[in-house]
Amino acid sequence: MSATPLEDLIAMLNSQGQSAYFGESVSILEHSLQTAHCAELAGAGPALVAAALLHDLGHILHGLGEDVAGFGQDGMHEELAADYLSRWFGEEVTAPIRLHVAAKRYLCARSPGYLDALSTPSRLSLQLQGGPMSEAEAEAFLSNQFASAAIQLRHWDDEAKIVGLTIPNAAHYLSVLRAAASSLPPTT
Ligand code: FE
Repeated sequence: MSATPLEDLIAMLNSQGQSAYFGESVSILEHSLQTAHCAELAGAGPALVAAALLHDLGHILHGLGEDVAGFGQDGMHEELAADYLSRWFGEEVTAPIRLHVAAKRYLCARSPGYLDALSTPSRLSLQLQGGPMSEAEAEAFLSNQFASAAIQLRHWDDEAKIVGLTIPNAAHYLSVLRAAASSLPPTT
């Protein structure tokens, strides 16, 4: 019996998420699990918990290495993940993922103290991502119906860098992914 696509996503996180997360002290897998855990603790629905779990899948997919920002490139990991996941999930999942870097640029422009609280690697990648939004960019961002979801995801993302936290594993989220999936082929 072959694994379902959602089981494959969990397996991909488990097997390929072990690499370091951009100079942070946690792996991409640990970071993803902690982000999803924050979303669950906040009472988010399946779509946003799924987005939290999978928001950095692009770092696994892009194949540019684990420290792409450190090499002075922007891997556009948010677009890569959102496009890849759109075959199984609707915009409730993919749009917050697509916007989670924009949300960081928005918060840097509009939320006092946010930029100063970013980790050093996150400040480095900010420059590659365009820096803080202009006023016009911030207004345009806010007009997106998924802006507030993306801002929520961003805050969980920023919190999810704690070394040695004991939290649920990736398989815990399989039922969440199933609930969030909108266009899976029927399973037999
Ligand atoms: Fe992240």
